[in-house]
Amino acid sequence: MDCLFCKIANKEVPAHVVYEDDTTMAFLDIHPRAMGHTVIIPKTHTENIITADDALTASVFLTVRKIAGILNNTLKPKGFTIGINHGSISGQTVPHLHVHVIPRYEGDGGGSIHSVVNYPSPLSLDEVVKKIKTFDK
Ligand code: 5GP
Ligand code: ZN
Repeated sequence: MDCLFCKIANKEVPAHVVYEDDTTMAFLDIHPRAMGHTVIIPKTHTENIITADDALTASVFLTVRKIAGILNNTLKPKGFTIGINHGSISGQTVPHLHVHVIPRYEGDGGGSIHSVVNYPSPLSLDEVVKKIKTFDK
């Protein structure tokens, strides 16, 4: 499969790898939005968090937590924004699951996750929860 992040996982494309284990890898984003901007991927290909199985999802998020701790101790940011662009509408450009860990620094000019989108719901909270609760377990 012609997937950039699979190639990074297989060491066919170089990256500034900060951590790896059997199932996950963390490397610096080539276009960092802040110092230490890191991307965490599963080593096996899956497009997003819905297509990933439970075990892979768990290992990705355990690595996210590990990386946040490592960056916190070494780069001393004031906080983090941690997130996933899921689907092209959200800005996903590489169709291989990845979690962005972006350190936040005083005066970095960034906003909160709430600033990503502002599209008020046409339905009330009651209506939305009712719709969601029709799902099959
Ligand atoms: P997305 O927009 O899909 O959520 O994020 C993809 C990220 O991968 C972008 O932030 C982009 O800068 C990063 N990226 C794209 N190509 C490369 C690459 O070849 N190496 C590394 N390290 N990061 C990349
Ligand atoms: Zn892939």
